[in-house]
Amino acid sequence: MTTGNINVSVENIFPLIKKFLYSDHEIFLRELISNATDATLKLKHLTNIGEAKGVEYGNPVIEVKIDKEGKKLHIIDQGLGMTAEEVQKYINEIAFSGAEEFLEKYKDSAKDSGIIGHFGLGFYSAFMVADKVEIITKSYKDEPAAHWTCDGSPNYTLDESDKSERGTEIILHINKDSEEFLEENRISELLIKYNKFMPVPIKFGTREETIKEGEGDDATDKQITVDNIINNPEPAWTKQPADLKDEDYLNFYRELYPMQFEEPLFHIHLNVDYPFNLTGILYFPKLSNEINLQKDKIQLFQNQVFVTDNVEGIVPEFLTMLRGVIDSPDIPLNVSRSYLQADGNVKKISSYITRKVADKLKSLFNENREDFEKKWNDIKVVIEYGMLSEDKFYEKADKFALYPTVDDEYFTFEELIEKVKENQTDKDGKTILLYASNQDAQHSYITEAKDRGYQVLILDSPIVSHLMQKLETSKENISFARVDSDSLDNLIKKDEEKISKLSEEEKETLKGVLENAVPKEKFSVQLESLDSNASPFVITQPEFMRRMKEMSATGGGMFGMGNMPEMYNLVVNTNHELIGQILNTKTKAKQERLINQSVDLARLSQGLLKGEELTNFIKRSYNMIK
Ligand code: ADP
Ligand code: MG
Repeated sequence: MTTGNINVSVENIFPLIKKFLYSDHEIFLRELISNATDATLKLKHLTNIGEAKGVEYGNPVIEVKIDKEGKKLHIIDQGLGMTAEEVQKYINEIAFSGAEEFLEKYKDSAKDSGIIGHFGLGFYSAFMVADKVEIITKSYKDEPAAHWTCDGSPNYTLDESDKSERGTEIILHINKDSEEFLEENRISELLIKYNKFMPVPIKFGTREETIKEGEGDDATDKQITVDNIINNPEPAWTKQPADLKDEDYLNFYRELYPMQFEEPLFHIHLNVDYPFNLTGILYFPKLSNEINLQKDKIQLFQNQVFVTDNVEGIVPEFLTMLRGVIDSPDIPLNVSRSYLQADGNVKKISSYITRKVADKLKSLFNENREDFEKKWNDIKVVIEYGMLSEDKFYEKADKFALYPTVDDEYFTFEELIEKVKENQTDKDGKTILLYASNQDAQHSYITEAKDRGYQVLILDSPIVSHLMQKLETSKENISFARVDSDSLDNLIKKDEEKISKLSEEEKETLKGVLENAVPKEKFSVQLESLDSNASPFVITQPEFMRRMKEMSATGGGMFGMGNMPEMYNLVVNTNHELIGQILNTKTKAKQERLINQSVDLARLSQGLLKGEELTNFIKRSYNMIK
């Protein structure tokens, strides 16, 4: 027997491992199964290249076993195993990464065999949950098996063992604080979380399965006991896109998110190997009415080992609303987010993903525009957010981002300008793009605009005010205006002479009367000589003010604008018959009643009449008709 002192630079590294290294103790299992997988894939590689002569690779599985009474957890593999010398080297010399050396030796041929790089301390993370760890291992080489034991201090023992089958068994003597890892449910949960798609089958207990015995009518059901394999070693993203049908992508989505019942809108298969290695499948979910946006996220893997579902910094922020997996060995782990963002590979990965998503959207748009229009409502938030946050995406999306009208037509920006240029360009050469945010609430304004042959867009996503702001600064001579932000004559000023039916003096009087009748802090009276058929009173809310408030509600806009009180304009059409009537009414009480009733109607059509004022309005109206 050999005993020795593990050569570590820090005097006692184990308490350090236990306390600081990983906040998440549970990852020990991922590390040990990763090692077992590495050992199995290494053996496969060696047999493939003829280095392991006379070795039968067979159908190796990795087994996880709980010994509740003995308070032990076993992880058993049929991989390449270790000789005593190798245990000494790879396990005792902590800083030595066997995988690194292996990769160095077989650099080019090993690249494709999917050997897992290191996550950190790997094997030693076992001491986070165990008082004592044993390794019983037999190498594929013709050498006696080895038995290594370490009780958590830097002292170890190394002995011979009578293990006869090739492979490694790790035995963890679970410590008092970690007894949760002796529970079947807990281990099962971890295996599903981290190892669901690992490339070597993982057995955890057995399960009952019903099979048919016999032929045709004579067939009977029979219960058999089979290995409970918890993983799918060949998940869809590891295959070539050409080998997958839509159905396969859908099935994989269900496998990833078993609790998600809605189907995704479409998928994007990622597959590059230069200048970095990345595979994956992203799905666009329906985002409208999404309640568990937070729950089903993109999952990051490294060579099929789950790492995290926090892909912030790796996937551009606007795409974190998507679902699916990305798998890349080229993303540094166990580093801070800020380091991650500065990493060259990560930057390249992020812009690759952005480009792939943009290209996919473009091809969907080109290939089946009708379908793309149908999906627009569900994907627009992601696209609009992307246009706002990534300039590269903005450039590409300009070709396929859609602007729907209240009549359910969908224009690209270019098409839209083409369509409205003639009718909606004002006397200064600016093209005004009218929009509504709510068809019902702004119905009367929309109708009026349509009567003039104007196109009214329906722009209702939460961040669209930011996008309008961006479009206005990056495109030339265009401006967005909500239909209820002013009178149409003011929104799209044409070079027409306006004739007023009222004299300047009459206007002055009218203005005074109206200002006395409506609350000054809320409404400012604005007299306009409009078409005599246009409404006598209209309430508008200036575009700038409202947009700034909306922008600050969704983060941004101008400082302090969010707290400004709501201000409205009361647009009065001096050419309307009713206005003349109000002006000429001699009885003060009657004049007041006409004004109140009219202004209330205007407020009603903006949805601004509520509470006591609404009650009074209704009472007054009944009195008038009885
Ligand atoms: P890494 O996996 O990054 O190399 P670990 O600390 O996880 O680091 O493992 C150290 C080394 O121990 C491995 O590189 C490998 O050589 C050896 N090793 C660990 N577990 C096994 C195993 N199950 N079978 C064979 N070798 C193993
Ligand atoms: Mg490891």
